[in-house]
Amino acid sequence: MVESVAANTVNSQNPRTGDAVGQFELTEASVMPAIIEVARLSFSGWSGLTLRERTNYLRRAYQEFFASRDELAQLISAETGKPICEAYSSEVLPVLDCFKYYIKNSKKLLKTETVRAVNPLLKLRKGYVRYEPLGVIAVISPWNFPFLLSMQHIIPALLSGNVVVQKPSEFTSLVSLKVLEIFQKANFPEGVLTVVTGFAEVGQALVAANVDKIFFTGSTAVGKKIYQTAASTLTPVNMELGGNDPMIVLDDADIERASNAALWGAFGNAGQACVSVERLLVHQSIFDRFVDRFVSKARELKFETSKRDGQDVSCLINEAHFRKIEGLVQDAKALGVTVHLGGKSRPDVGELYYEPTILSNSDATMRISSQEIFGPVVLLQPFSSDNEAVLLANDSEFGLSASVWSRNRDRAIAIAESVKSGSVLINEVQSHIAQFEAPYTGIKQSGIGVSHGPWGMLEMVQPKYISFDRPAAQVFLAIFARHLRRSDVWWFPYNKERIADFQAFSAFLHAASWFVRLKAIPGTLKAIMRRHPD
Ligand code: NAD
Repeated sequence: MVESVAANTVNSQNPRTGDAVGQFELTEASVMPAIIEVARLSFSGWSGLTLRERTNYLRRAYQEFFASRDELAQLISAETGKPICEAYSSEVLPVLDCFKYYIKNSKKLLKTETVRAVNPLLKLRKGYVRYEPLGVIAVISPWNFPFLLSMQHIIPALLSGNVVVQKPSEFTSLVSLKVLEIFQKANFPEGVLTVVTGFAEVGQALVAANVDKIFFTGSTAVGKKIYQTAASTLTPVNMELGGNDPMIVLDDADIERASNAALWGAFGNAGQACVSVERLLVHQSIFDRFVDRFVSKARELKFETSKRDGQDVSCLINEAHFRKIEGLVQDAKALGVTVHLGGKSRPDVGELYYEPTILSNSDATMRISSQEIFGPVVLLQPFSSDNEAVLLANDSEFGLSASVWSRNRDRAIAIAESVKSGSVLINEVQSHIAQFEAPYTGIKQSGIGVSHGPWGMLEMVQPKYISFDRPAAQVFLAIFARHLRRSDVWWFPYNKERIADFQAFSAFLHAASWFVRLKAIPGTLKAIMRRHPD
């Protein structure tokens, strides 16, 4: 939560206690063009370093972040309200992994590549691709994983030679300011990373400030607005947006493991994860048994509060979000949903606490069925065949991730391949957001582009093709076809002979029939040897 304390300064509040975690100054939206200008000046110095020099900077930062891990985990937990255990497991550790992955692999991922031509005439030339940084990258992040979701872009962006202007959520700005402080401690040059703080208008100003690419993680609604603004300058975007993930439990699943996973998947970070389990599809033959185990385990979850650290489920981020979750459940209850557990707030525990809630018998008339819930609420639904499970899983405008639970790997893989989403885990939930070797991506309304791995690095760079004469080919031409040194066969002038040349040449290269190809050899030789009139 944030609370205004002076004209340009706000308190960042701990949502569990309401206490101030610290204060920060809001960036004036009007100074954004000047901020981008300064970042652009830093770009020439930073991108002019060798990859090895930048890697050395990142290596130093990696160790500074490692040294600050406890402080970071405490701050993340205080600003988001998430249990300290989750601050370590879902943010601090994955970010250290991210450093390790990209430091280890950047040389391989960014090395120039030779291009080999298919067409024999183009083989007379040699070509290579080099990966150039884009310039000033905007990274706009949400509050639910403030450290992970900003750093997963900042690390590859900096390594590949870009400079970054980062806009954290207004609810978690102190985490980003701490990140900046740690980079400064690692002696990063001024302006390579800038943090701008504030509400939506600061994000809007950043999007409109003519940056070279925007990496946005947040809601689909805001993503669409940013996409519209970016379209006016054709600024490229990468977007990680909302989800409504299904978990499919087949009749041969290990019910104990699956129900434990469903608990963590649905109620971890109080369900405030883009990849949290929102729809729990369970085979009808095990539905009652599964629900019994799931509900009884959910009943045992403990609330992490200001007085009890190290517990399972925390509070929601702020009052507006709390009201949204409360409203969705109330609406569903009024329309006849079955409540197996929860369905109510817990003012006795704290202002923003909502009980882990398990519902079934939802239908399309309920708002909760069609939108991202983003809270500690899960919808149960039985299915009777693998085909029906896939149809139900795909019945969503989102396509972020999903999971399939079965002891039969082939059966689970067949379902995984039919589910329309960026990733599908078998007998696991959510772990892919912390796995930097694998692509992280959403389809449908869940996003544009890819993060992590080689794909995430390639989003940070422009592949530039450079081609030149192949020296050996020049010698060959000097001896056998001098005229081709003066003019390529596809250059002017055009005439009937040239058309015949291309007919012969294309038949020689591409005809399915060997007979047609052989017949095209004389025409092809003629085409190569034909001289343009001088
Ligand atoms: P949000 O969209 O409200 O805000 C995200 C960021 O955008 C914040 O920094 C905010 O200040 C800024 N912002 C708001 N309006 C803006 C505008 N008009 N122009 C530019 N910037 C603007 O999202 P949130 O509430 O912080 O986070 C929750 C949402 O994020 C959920 O929908 C969740 O699914 C999504 N999310 C997605 C992923 C993913 O990887 N797909 C990960 C985490 C969160």
